[in-house]
Amino acid sequence: MDTKRTVAVLGTGIMGAAMARNLLRAGHEVHVWNRDQAKTVALADAGAQVASSPAQAVAGADVVLTMLFDAAAVTEVVRQAATGIRPGTAWVQSTTVGVHDAAALAGLAGEVGLDLVEAPVSGTREPAEAGQLLVIAAGPEAVRERVAPVLDAIGARTIWTGEDPAGGSATRLKLVVNSWVIAASNAAGEILALAEALGVDPRQFFDLIDGGGLDLPFLRTKAGLILDDRLEPASFAVDTSLKDARLILDAARGLGLRLDGAEASAARLERVAAQGRAKQDMAAAYFASTEQDPGSHDDSGRGAMPRGEVTR
Ligand code: NAP
Repeated sequence: MDTKRTVAVLGTGIMGAAMARNLLRAGHEVHVWNRDQAKTVALADAGAQVASSPAQAVAGADVVLTMLFDAAAVTEVVRQAATGIRPGTAWVQSTTVGVHDAAALAGLAGEVGLDLVEAPVSGTREPAEAGQLLVIAAGPEAVRERVAPVLDAIGARTIWTGEDPAGGSATRLKLVVNSWVIAASNAAGEILALAEALGVDPRQFFDLIDGGGLDLPFLRTKAGLILDDRLEPASFAVDTSLKDARLILDAARGLGLRLDGAEASAARLERVAAQGRAKQDMAAAYFASTEQDPGSHDDSGRGAMPRGEVTR
């Protein structure tokens, strides 16, 4: 059975560029389009065909992969692609969107002749670069075989949550995962800020929890970014995680659910975005504790905390 596909990747930011690279490595023909064309240059060197418009990118594609900022961007770009779409082309929609967006995007797919698989991913820049994302997918059996070689190239594993992408079952699981990611990242910032204020060496904290039930690689990773001033380039930027925090809160409000922790996390991300840190890694939410004023972004780093290896 032929497993080679022609894939149009729309959106080559942090995640889309890494996914496109892995599709090339797996031997697929890859067309790329990005609003800011500068982000496609390195992909052209790696063998991708750079398109000057979404419609040009999707022409001749078996599979369209969208990895854009949010549902509004996806809608705009897919509409721009419409004239180039061959009816019945598969659409792997990996952008993180809201629960209600899933149904709207399924409607858009019907309008432009795409067979939609909603396929948000769990994992950040490094797993994306290694082709080790966890893909959460919902779509009809009939389309799964067509998209399988694409999902295999970008991810370590695909978890199918349903047949109907309009139901948003994959998006629901993705929002649950991200509520954990955002909570844990904000907790990392608060732990370090509190340690600093109390005069506690954070390495002692990590030594204390080492290997026990409280230890968590993700906590160490985010704490390491803060301690070592490695907030750029971001793995998962403040503005993107704020967008996701708002999607989580919207979903919760629609269900009459109160998520105080998520509200606080969103407020912290908003504050640091206002400090000029929107493009830094989400770990920069640490500064929501230490820099109180909007616009007080201080490039000198995190203050007096001792540096040190906390990742393992
Ligand atoms: P990113 O680097 O900021 O990339 C965002 C992409 O969206 C860029 O290609 C950007 O184009 C494009 N874009 C934004 N608005 C647009 C518009 N109106 N029209 C056309 N293109 C537009 O973000 P990312 O981290 O790769 O995230 C992409 C998606 O993956 C998001 O939905 C995010 O929630 C999700 N995600 C991210 C991670 C992560 O850890 N980073 C993990 C899982 C899922 P320009 O380059 O021209 O601005």
